[in-house]
Amino acid sequence: MKGYDTIKIENLQVFANHGVFPEETALGQKFVLSLKLYTDTRRAGKSDELAASIDYGDVCLQATKFMQEHTYRLIEAAAENLAEMLLTKYELLAGVTVELKKPWAPIGLPVDYAAVEITRFWHRAYMAVGSNMGDKKAYLDGAVKLFKESPLCRNLRCSSYMATEPYGVTDQDEFLNACFTVETLMSPEELLDFAHEAENAAGRVRTRHWGPRTLDVDIIFYDDEVISGDNLTVPHPDMQNRDFVLGPLSEIAPGKVHPVLGKTVKQLLAELSE
Ligand code: ADP
Ligand code: MG
Repeated sequence: MKGYDTIKIENLQVFANHGVFPEETALGQKFVLSLKLYTDTRRAGKSDELAASIDYGDVCLQATKFMQEHTYRLIEAAAENLAEMLLTKYELLAGVTVELKKPWAPIGLPVDYAAVEITRFWHRAYMAVGSNMGDKKAYLDGAVKLFKESPLCRNLRCSSYMATEPYGVTDQDEFLNACFTVETLMSPEELLDFAHEAENAAGRVRTRHWGPRTLDVDIIFYDDEVISGDNLTVPHPDMQNRDFVLGPLSEIAPGKVHPVLGKTVKQLLAELSE
């Protein structure tokens, strides 16, 4: 991954009990783990302080413990969960490549090993939340709290809450809107599902489009990804026309560049205000 320094751990041997066959989970076997930790070593490089870096000895210890304290059927699952554990445990970790080899895999043919290799990163998402029914502030607070407390999220920053006139369908109560940015391990689709969970937790009933709602949670940006699927469009297709998105968003991310329009949030807000 360009832009990152790496700390590498090559061929750590761990005796553990992952496998589809009962013999594998009962007897255990050798696994060989290689890790590539994506981080910024500059501060450690300049200060020569271990506290400024990720302690690879500790990573080896934690990875070994994790591999031995869990039993997965698939090395895919062992690698996935190990990556998640490392990314949530080590603050300085931006991403990780996990290669998990199984040299004694019961294949019955002469291979050196079977292995999986996965790369997982923290992603930055920008979200918009809005409510125009009931205790609006409580609904926004609840949504923010849900993301803040998710183990798959970190470093959430929220804008102030902004009261706005209804959009589209105007014969309804005024809105309370906010935006927040958060680092997440969720994929865009998982993030959308989580947003829907937050809406459901607020008791949202989908009646008419653009109609009154206890809580609306939209994905505005996800890294610089451009997605146009059946259920998900990112960047949010209408964000550049919504002052109740651009207003709060410009508080927390004025310089963020729209990956399609090529303009900053601040520019988009200024153009909309004209
Ligand atoms: P709106 O947010 O436009 O008022 P809804 O909240 O009812 O409308 O969203 C309808 C659907 O829009 C969602 O079920 C979701 O699948 C889809 N959608 C597409 N792109 C996005 C996005 N970026 N964020 C949130 N929902 C999206
Ligand atoms: Mg929505």
